Amino acid sequence: MAWRSSGSSSAELISNMMRHGLVNSPRVAEAMKKVDRANYVIDPTYAYEDSPQPIGYDATISAPHMHAHATENLLPLLKPGAKVLDIGSGSGYLCAVFHHLVGPTGRVVGLEHIPELVDWSVQNLDRDGLGAAIKGAQIIMVAGDGRQGFPREAPYDAIHVGAAAPRLPKALVDQLASPGRMFIPIGTLSQSIYQVDKDEHGNVTQKELFGVMYVPLTDRRI
Ligand code: SAH
Repeated sequence: MAWRSSGSSSAELISNMMRHGLVNSPRVAEAMKKVDRANYVIDPTYAYEDSPQPIGYDATISAPHMHAHATENLLPLLKPGAKVLDIGSGSGYLCAVFHHLVGPTGRVVGLEHIPELVDWSVQNLDRDGLGAAIKGAQIIMVAGDGRQGFPREAPYDAIHVGAAAPRLPKALVDQLASPGRMFIPIGTLSQSIYQVDKDEHGNVTQKELFGVMYVPLTDRRI
């Protein structure tokens, strides 16, 4: 299943994913086509396959269809000028996609607890033509514990969490804007994606979407 959307470039991969119903929004497809996945993997041989790949440190770059699901779920909040927090930013791939959606007046904060991955993601984004966006603080990549969020830049219109939390971290709900939306895998042995919405009055609701298997949102191993 995962392999049938393979292409020889990001544009071809995304077009194939659209044909198979794995990307449905033209806005998301356009943003994903601007990001060359080969710049965010260790071995580019399989860059344009719809499958996760190891990026070292027990981490993986998620499969493109998961990046597409997450982005499509958050899309109503990813307007030009919006602020986005990507927790467990790993390769930096999704930060690039979010950047193309919120544009130069928006800001994307990538938060990752492995400092080596933070440095690598900055190199990846630079290679992908986003050096100026980093210089201009349109994209900020920081090392830190995602469970605490990044209060300095809060509130966020959208929060994406790329690793599974045992329960919904209160700090992250607090850092959501009103209105705002978070896409987060929750669970240990069995995990599901939750969509957490904060309305314009600050009321919070959550909805379970579908089962997944993510790496855990954990303490850093020393
Ligand atoms: N979304 C990214 C990476 C997904 S893998 C991509 O597609 O490239 C999950 C990432 O979460 C890993 O890089 C891992 O190091 C990170 N992570 C795990 N626990 C964390 C924590 N407490 N704080 C921040 N990042 C964490």
